[in-house]
Amino acid sequence: MTDKTIDLRSDTVTQPTPDMREAMNAAPLGDDVFGGDPSVNALQEKIAAMLGFEAAMFVPTGTQSNLCAILSHCQRGDEYIVGQMAHAYRWEGGGAAVFGSVQPQPLNHQPDGSLALADIEAAIKPDDAHFARSRLLALENTLGGKLLPFDYVQEATGLARQHGLARHLDGARLFNAAVAQAAKTGGDARAEALRIARCFDSVSVCFSKGLGAPVGSALCGSKDLIRQAHRIRKMAGGGMRQSGFLAAAASHALDHHVDRLADDHVLAQRLAAGLAGIEGLQVEAPQTNILFVELTGQARTQSAALLKHLASKGVLATGLYQLRFVTHLDVDEAGVDHAIAAVREFFNTGAADA
Ligand SMILES: *Cc1c(COP(=O)(O)O)cnc(C)c1O
Repeated sequence: MTDKTIDLRSDTVTQPTPDMREAMNAAPLGDDVFGGDPSVNALQEKIAAMLGFEAAMFVPTGTQSNLCAILSHCQRGDEYIVGQMAHAYRWEGGGAAVFGSVQPQPLNHQPDGSLALADIEAAIKPDDAHFARSRLLALENTLGGKLLPFDYVQEATGLARQHGLARHLDGARLFNAAVAQAAKTGGDARAEALRIARCFDSVSVCFSKGLGAPVGSALCGSKDLIRQAHRIRKMAGGGMRQSGFLAAAASHALDHHVDRLADDHVLAQRLAAGLAGIEGLQVEAPQTNILFVELTGQARTQSAALLKHLASKGVLATGLYQLRFVTHLDVDEAGVDHAIAAVREFFNTGAADA
């Protein structure tokens, strides 16, 4: 038993580490709306350079980052092609349509999370008064914890380019993707992040997910694109003042928390292995830090009871028929083992007919 809550609901729940707090405390500050916060400027330069872009803009959330990107690429009456389950379509309140009159063209995902090239091509509209103007392809990597195969990313973005579409990456968890890709290629995570980012005209990255910063995302792109995005950010109320405090946390995360994402991926695999073979659970092999577990057969209706049991043991997760467990900076092996034991206990104690 442990007194500590094992919070596997999301990688957004992390607390800033003592070193991160120190970096925040030491950050030189200014008014970023005047462009005068040295810590924000330093972060923007750092992430732009890391991902091979001319410029970057620090924003409070990934949602705002995607909104700024879509509204900078697209005008009223344009459309963006995007996955049904993509955050930038499904989980952002329809912002691009609401604030920008930009029409989404959602496509179903393939089992690996990709959008079929044929589906993308078929969705690109000819120049005809009947249609919205197809302007942008938006991909997400990782999506639901899945790494998009790099060959696919190249092909899909190449196809978009051929048709004159801009390419945006919602890379909220780009560094998880880069670390997973590096494990496959034997390469370096930073090099893989750059390789992925180079396929796109803009990339949004979250610092508040696995990287462990308290707040913030960045949108990277050309100077022109970022200039436009600044106007959207202002309209959306995202012009912050002494935000160097937050930017310093993000900079610290880029310096110290990228490679360690591999630890989160190992922990997700440990959790998967510990839950495999339990009757009523179908465990998907995690590629990064997100593990999905389906409740099947008689257990299908047991998710609420299971989550309640877990909570009583200090383990938090989310889900309905499919449970989601996310590993991160504030979870360790002992925590994962405790979570495994709590799930096993639920299935052994007859709670399944509760
Ligand atoms: C978390 C997330 C975002 C942005 O979320 P915010 O809560 O607005 O910071 C965007 N895209 C993906 C894929 C995400 O996981």
